[in-house]
Amino acid sequence: MDLYREKYIKLKSAYENSYEFDPFFDFRTELENSSDKEAKYVLVDVYTLMQQYRKAYNLMVSLGMPDNQKTRKNLAVIKDLAQKYGDSFEKKRLSRPRLDGRLKKIPIFKYHPDPFMTGSFYELDKAETCSCCGKPTFIRYKGPFYSLEEPGCLCPDCIANGMAAEKFDGEFQDECSVDEIDNPEGLEELIHKTPGYCGWQQEYWRAHCNDYCAFIGYAGSQELKEMGIMEEVLDDSLWNETAKDNICNNMFNGSGMQGYLFRCLHCGRYLLWADCD
Ligand SMILES: [Zn+2]
Ligand SMILES: [Zn+2]
Repeated sequence: MDLYREKYIKLKSAYENSYEFDPFFDFRTELENSSDKEAKYVLVDVYTLMQQYRKAYNLMVSLGMPDNQKTRKNLAVIKDLAQKYGDSFEKKRLSRPRLDGRLKKIPIFKYHPDPFMTGSFYELDKAETCSCCGKPTFIRYKGPFYSLEEPGCLCPDCIANGMAAEKFDGEFQDECSVDEIDNPEGLEELIHKTPGYCGWQQEYWRAHCNDYCAFIGYAGSQELKEMGIMEEVLDDSLWNETAKDNICNNMFNGSGMQGYLFRCLHCGRYLLWADCD
């Protein structure tokens, strides 16, 4: 059997036993970079598994799969998923983020440690002027900012040092939409000096060990199972039985019910927030 196919079967059976999904991210890159046609056939299956249905479908069409009943049926299924969902349920790596050189270019945000991975910051090809400090920046904020005036482009520095919040009299996180703890310095840092994230509804920030948690990223039930933390996040007085059932069965990354994953900076516990569109 083809080596790529063999590796796929091995990873898939490991995944079915332990929800160990991380190896697929590297395997996908390996397959994408390979010029071997066999690798591309396996890549169709990997895209499907990663819920990148549009990519899987386009690749199948471009490969001209052998014309038999099995592939015809498979193509029809993938086409249907591609039309319904596209790539919007794409699985994201959450547990072990790649070492990202971009993080060296921005201040450390303890409550939002990887704002590139979560999409709250993005890099620009051409510098823009920060509306707050007036300096050129190649990194721009894309997340919520609650203020009367729309500030336009904000650079990471002006968020970290609190200048943006002060100048525009705004907040990156609504101070009432947080777990209740007694930590005024933490709250100040969270709402005025931390890039926010984008929820379907009012973003909510979890807390634990009398401090606000780090926002890790967007998650669905699959990601939580893969990380082996489903039980941990459900063991939380925030969720009643109906909510628990919904989180387990109806929460998908990019769908109408979205999960937001947090981690306690002190004890390491994972906490979840979820909302619907
Ligand atoms: Zn600035
Ligand atoms: Zn804790």
